[in-house]
Amino acid sequence: MYGATVGRRPAHPVPYGAARDDRYGAHARAVDALRAAYTDIPAGSAVRLAKRTSNLFRFPASGRGRGLDVSGFDRVLAVDPRTRTADVQGMVTYERLVDETLIHGLMPLVVPQLKTITLGGAVAGLGIESSSFRNGLPHESVQEMEILTGDGRVILARPDNDHRDLFRGFANSYGTLGYALRLTIDLEPVRPFVRLRHLRFNTAEACFAAMATVCADAAYDGQPVDFVDGTVFGPDEHYVTLGTFSDDAPAVSDYTGMSVYYRSIQQREIDYLTVRDYLWRWDTDWFWCSRAFGVQRPLVRRLWPRRYRRSDVYRRLVAFDRRHRLSASVARVRGMPREEDVVQDVEIPVAHASKFLEVFHRDVGIVPVWLCPLKLRAARAWPLYPLEPDELYINVGFWSSVPLQPEQPDGFHNRLVEDAVSALGGHKSLYSTVHYPAEEFWQRYNGAAYGIVKRAYDPDGRLPDLYHKVCAAEVRE
Ligand SMILES: Cc1cc2nc3c(=O)[nH]c(=O)nc-3n(C[C@H](O)[C@H](O)[C@H](O)COP(=O)(O)OP(=O)(O)OC[C@H]3O[C@@H](n4cnc5c(N)ncnc54)[C@H](O)[C@@H]3O)c2cc1C
Repeated sequence: MYGATVGRRPAHPVPYGAARDDRYGAHARAVDALRAAYTDIPAGSAVRLAKRTSNLFRFPASGRGRGLDVSGFDRVLAVDPRTRTADVQGMVTYERLVDETLIHGLMPLVVPQLKTITLGGAVAGLGIESSSFRNGLPHESVQEMEILTGDGRVILARPDNDHRDLFRGFANSYGTLGYALRLTIDLEPVRPFVRLRHLRFNTAEACFAAMATVCADAAYDGQPVDFVDGTVFGPDEHYVTLGTFSDDAPAVSDYTGMSVYYRSIQQREIDYLTVRDYLWRWDTDWFWCSRAFGVQRPLVRRLWPRRYRRSDVYRRLVAFDRRHRLSASVARVRGMPREEDVVQDVEIPVAHASKFLEVFHRDVGIVPVWLCPLKLRAARAWPLYPLEPDELYINVGFWSSVPLQPEQPDGFHNRLVEDAVSALGGHKSLYSTVHYPAEEFWQRYNGAAYGIVKRAYDPDGRLPDLYHKVCAAEVRE
């Protein structure tokens, strides 16, 4: 059976008939319980989602605000191979979602790279992957959403109903308008394998020119291209990786074992992965960030259990370190310079992407850097993250830290990045630290449109506003 080749049987397969009705019944009961729990929280108390995982790179002190138990919202309700749609609870992880859709030979249109990113998190907080040059961003494949709004209602928001403003304003609202409890999303067919080609370019200009051409043609060298991303190892070493669905493979690689995926980009021109391993190729080593824990050293890798080579494990270790200030204390004792986290994803119009990299190499100097082309699927900009339709952007991702000179305040390099993004007509994702002054922030993230939706769905401000939520000092997730 085709699905059996590409998918791994999930622990809780999507049921049919009476079992399916049970799943919807359980969802309805979970919605009632959550609404009651929300109503019980006294006005003026901070609210947060009590979730087991997070992929934010802001680390609030634990226990801030009343936690809403959303453990009853982590399931796939139905997959319909006929309409190529899935009906999914808001806190389902992409790992579980993908396991259940692959059984039907289908996948979500965009699968963010980290296994524990949830559908609600990716829609409220943006997401991107190598199919984004043809499928846009995850919120663009949502048909409808059931949302618990800030004022305690449960609303069905669609692009064509009375709640269309909420539907359109939800992307990049980061849980400040309400929480998505159920979403219906589009799916697309997959083949069992992905054939990879890693193309090397010595200059950023040549790299981005190739990306623009491949994305426009969805083809390279006469072959179709289904996925495009890239990796920069230095100012003269850029790779564009092209992925093409395939029905067969001469041999498949496995980067969950001793080999590390990002190193293979420099070592091989052609590679094959199963579609599942392709979707999670970046998760095993959190792109390359696992090296901070020594996991890429052969001895440590051999001893580090395979099931713990996952992004959520590394993220938990980082959160523990931040909470207890372990590495910062060690660095201080050893007299090392202060370090500033520079963990960001930014979108730059392709025509200015090489200029951005030039400034970035000069002023920040982090490598490797991840590149991912994206073009909106919609013909109209989304209000809170106003990328231009028809424009090809390059997502540039960098996740490390840089030493600070004694006279440089914390946030110095992040501000340089924000200034470069603004100067080049780009946008910055909000999953990490944000350093914009309030006026500039609201101008860049459409404060006028946000204010209208906020007043309509959370008039008493029970949830924080977007600026206060994402700007460092008052983090409340
Ligand atoms: C190193 C690193 C690399 C990253 N790389 C990528 C990448 O390449 N591609 C990519 O797509 N993303 C990437 N991300 C960002 C990630 O997608 C976002 O942080 C995303 O919002 C996390 O989703 P989550 O489900 O883990 O949500 P959480 O971290 O739990 O929450 C994120 C925010 O969304 C809100 N939220 C969560 N669930 C809901 C819901 N159901 N309804 C409304 N609001 C909700 C929360 O209140 C919170 O403000 C990266 C992050 C890091 C740290």
